[in-house]
Amino acid sequence: MQYRKDKHGEELSVLGFGCMRFTKKGGSIDIAKAEKEILEAYSAGVNYYDTAYVYSGSEAAIGEIFERNHMRDKIKIATKLPQYLVRNRQAIDRYFDEELTRLRTDYVDYYLMHMLTDIAMWEKLKSNGILEWIDEKKKAGAIRNIGFSYHGNSDNFLKIIDDYDWDICQIQYNYMDENSQAGVTGLKAAAAKGIPVVIMEPLRGGKLVNMLPDAAKKVMQESERDWSPAEWGLRWLYDQSEVTVVLSGMNSVEMVRENCRTASDALPGHLTEQDKATLREVTGKIKEKEKVGCTECRYCMPCPKGVDIPGLFRAYNNMFIEAKMHGRMQYAQAVSLTKEPAFATQCVGCGKCEQHCPQGIPIREKIKEADRALRPFPFRIGIGVARKFMFRK
Ligand code: SF4
Ligand code: SF4
Repeated sequence: MQYRKDKHGEELSVLGFGCMRFTKKGGSIDIAKAEKEILEAYSAGVNYYDTAYVYSGSEAAIGEIFERNHMRDKIKIATKLPQYLVRNRQAIDRYFDEELTRLRTDYVDYYLMHMLTDIAMWEKLKSNGILEWIDEKKKAGAIRNIGFSYHGNSDNFLKIIDDYDWDICQIQYNYMDENSQAGVTGLKAAAAKGIPVVIMEPLRGGKLVNMLPDAAKKVMQESERDWSPAEWGLRWLYDQSEVTVVLSGMNSVEMVRENCRTASDALPGHLTEQDKATLREVTGKIKEKEKVGCTECRYCMPCPKGVDIPGLFRAYNNMFIEAKMHGRMQYAQAVSLTKEPAFATQCVGCGKCEQHCPQGIPIREKIKEADRALRPFPFRIGIGVARKFMFRK
């Protein structure tokens, strides 16, 4: 196993155990199986374990496993505050205390604000007293590092990292998402500020393994490397020195072994120009299924009416690359559940964006098409209800 350092010099394994995807048995986590997988990872040197309040049964499962195997002081636990459910300071205490009980511990190594999508969510937490709360918990030793996980656009990510002295952050990043959400811009900006970056969805929830088009698989098979699709995805991340930990939701001992092997020898800068060309070709094959040829260059932004043009096109394309529901879920997270909505229906047709688009995309027409596909009638209602709940005063 290789290790990269956190903000305070602690060594973190470059492979982190994502505890969201344990196998279920009879509706709850198969503890015996999860324990085998965790012990396999632990013996290979994995010391970073990521969970969250809302990952059903996960905190309690790892709390039990760590206690039984006397591991608590040898590993790091990252868990998250369900900030979207918080209405006041008492609620923050309630969630945190419950998490400590589930985890059978009296401290959390990395405590993250879960799923921020824009700066307004962080502002709201501040108005509920989060800054004073963090100071108290840190002083008492109940929280060692504070951070956030993120799903909005890169502009808001930059605002959030500039607003507070974060110890860690967590972003979605992989070779298909180099320029979406926080993206490479966010990764580099965080690293430049000395904030360690934890990567989630390194294989897009397994889709860069299980749902790769045959043409993309063929490109990998015909390359000089004997690497599996998962290995290609992880190596692309480890190649970047700005990446600190890559989370993988491992749910078999074989998967743990394969990922640990990759994590033990993939150093920053190890990919050759030929390897990078192979991955560009793979990306091209995946993108052939897209509906709109948007490269996410963002030259069309900002839209004066707040429409997130590249965010809309990315979600729309994902309906065809992956699955309808994946595109709609991505749209819900990154476009429609931000405090300032970014819907295509806000477009007034000024045409400013089209003047700057190097791909010559008829943006005004295509965002309407995307909106119709991403937000059919029942979704419109659901999103409206969710917005009312999340942004009520
Ligand atoms: S045409 Fe619509 S999407 Fe484009 S910049 Fe104007 S308001 Fe924004
Ligand atoms: S300018 Fe064109 S290609 Fe670039 S992000 Fe906007 S729509 Fe996409």
